[in-house]
Order: sequence, then C-alpha cells, then structure tokens
Amino acid sequence: MSITSDRPAAVAAPTGADSALADAKWFDAPGGYTGVEPTQEWADEVRRLAKARNATLLAHNYQLPAIQDVADHVGDSLALSRIAAEVDSDEIIFCGVHFMAETAKILSPEKRVLIPDERAGCSLADSITADELRAWKAEFPDALVVSYVNTTAEVKGLTDICCTSSNAVDVVASIDPDRDVLFLPDQFLGAHVKRETGRDNIHIWAGECHVHAGINGDELTAQANAHPDADLFIHPECGCATSALYLAGEGFVPEEKVKILSTGGMLDAARETGAAQVLVATEVGMLHQLRKAAPGVDFQAVNDRASCPYMKMITPAAMLRCLREGRDEVFVDADVAEKARKSVERMIAIGNPGSGE
Ligand code: SF4
Repeated sequence: MSITSDRPAAVAAPTGADSALADAKWFDAPGGYTGVEPTQEWADEVRRLAKARNATLLAHNYQLPAIQDVADHVGDSLALSRIAAEVDSDEIIFCGVHFMAETAKILSPEKRVLIPDERAGCSLADSITADELRAWKAEFPDALVVSYVNTTAEVKGLTDICCTSSNAVDVVASIDPDRDVLFLPDQFLGAHVKRETGRDNIHIWAGECHVHAGINGDELTAQANAHPDADLFIHPECGCATSALYLAGEGFVPEEKVKILSTGGMLDAARETGAAQVLVATEVGMLHQLRKAAPGVDFQAVNDRASCPYMKMITPAAMLRCLREGRDEVFVDADVAEKARKSVERMIAIGNPGSGE
C-alpha cells in the first residue's frame, strides 16, 4: 500500500492565466525542463502559484541560486524534512533530489509532497540498492546497519540507525563496541567515522558521490598552496577529506585552517571565520548561501566544476510545470515509510542530528 495524502487531489486556480508568464512554455531536455528564465516575473509567478496551492517551497543548499532565493526555506536535507513536518500547508514542493523528497514524505505522510522533476536522482543514494543491502546483512547477521541520510526510503527501511555527516561519529560511537557495524553508502564519510571512532569492526560500503569524489587531494593541495592565508571548509563526503587531514598532519596546510564541516556547520563557521578568504570543498551551490551569510568573506570553490547535475534539474521551467500541473508527486510505501521513520527517529534520539548533505 502506498501512502497517499488525504488532502484534495487537485488545487484550483494556479493556471497562470492572468500572469505575465501565462504563455510560458517549457521543453523537456536531457538535463531537465528548460525554456523559462528566472526573471522577477517568474519569481512572482512561483510565489503566487505556491500561495494558491497552499504549498511551502523548500530548497536544498545545492540548488540554483534563483531556486534558493524564491524558496520559503533553504537548508540541508534533514533540516528541510523536519520543516516539512512542522509547517501548516497542504503541499511541500521539495527542490532537491528524489531521496530528499522521500524523506520529507516519510516525516510528513499526511502532506502531498511534490518534486519538480522526479528524475533528479543521486549517484550516492543509487550506489546501494535494497537487494544489495539485504545480501550484505545476510553476510553479517549480528551487525547493526548505519546509513547516511543519502539513501532511498527502501534502504532506510532496512537500516537500524540513520546518520548525518554531523552526527555519524556520535551514532557509531553509541553502538556496543563489540557489535559489527555496516556503514553505508559513502566510503569517505565511512573512513572519517572509522578514523574518529578507532573501531576496527566497522565495514564500509564502497559507494561515492561522483560530484564530491571529483574534488581530490591534488586540487586541494594546489589551491591551498596558491592561497596560503585562506581557511579550508571541507564536507566529509568529499574524496578530499582524507587528503586534507593528511596534508594538515604533514604540515602542508596548517591544521587550524582545515575545518571538516557539514553544510549547516559551514554556514556557522562562515559567520565566525576571521579569514578574508575561504576555500570550499563541496558542491558549488553552497557558495550562494555562504556568500549571503558572510558577504565580507571571499568564498572560492576548490573545484568549480563540482556541480551536481541532478540538483540542477530543478530548473525555473520545472518549477512552473510543478506548480501549474501538480507534478511530480512522491509516494512511499506505508510499511517502508514506517520502518524508515524509525531509523530516522533513532538517530534524532541519539542527539545532534545537525545536518547531512
Ligand atoms: S552532490 Fe552527490 S550526493 Fe549530493 S545529490 Fe548530487 S550526486 Fe547525490
């Protein structure tokens, strides 16, 4: 059985008939829907349609700047899902990738959750399927499964405790030291957790995000050498996190300059940094919020090609299509959602969920 909303299935009014964008047309292209520019008229129309639908617009930190600016709330996936559960609206428009919209649905099953383009996937979440996890669990029947929040609802339903990049170390440290742990899907976050906890009974799935994995140690070293006074903000999902710690340990980069931070932690650190320049190792969409949080600091990407093509499928055209046609709705099977919710709630009970991606 699927969870469906008991809210009205259709929403009246948002035809756009009397708006400046009444004749706007969008086209389906390989990178997502296209043909609409993010003008002020577009932003006004998006806000008007959202109000007419009684919808809350949530945008992930890695969204295009125009999508972030038109949203009601911007943040990481878990914080947005918790906001989705709290707001008093009929619909949630989740501008992010599919597993994030699923998490919002898991935490607010009574609301209709829409994603502007359901094809917006995630290479990290796709790096382990439910069947692969079942087979892995069968190899280690006594192990506890800890999953980073970048996983599908089905994988979360097979998970004992979820984690974010902020609390992954605390979650694993809370588990009986004699119990094996299966950690998935991100191998770099897993390596970070293994190093921090000193456990040797943590088994790590060899998954990765192709965007974060593209930020490597060579690039980081070159950037750090070219900007010796800059701070370094590094997301622990990045392939460069291990190299960054190594470089700091070898004295290439002063240890106090390297900060391993979740996306939410980066915003806090941005407001507090005394550095004039900060090199940022994560998806480039994050720069928009960092520059807004600390306009006096020069934030530069370690790799300015680190742009997630799935995140960027939420285009201005996709937003119009979503709000006018009420698409694409996200469904999660009810018993999968119940199990998945428990794995998220166990994490929250351990404390400090902070933020994930
Ligand atoms: S940046 Fe990587 S982990 Fe994040 S949504 Fe894109 S593919 Fe997934």
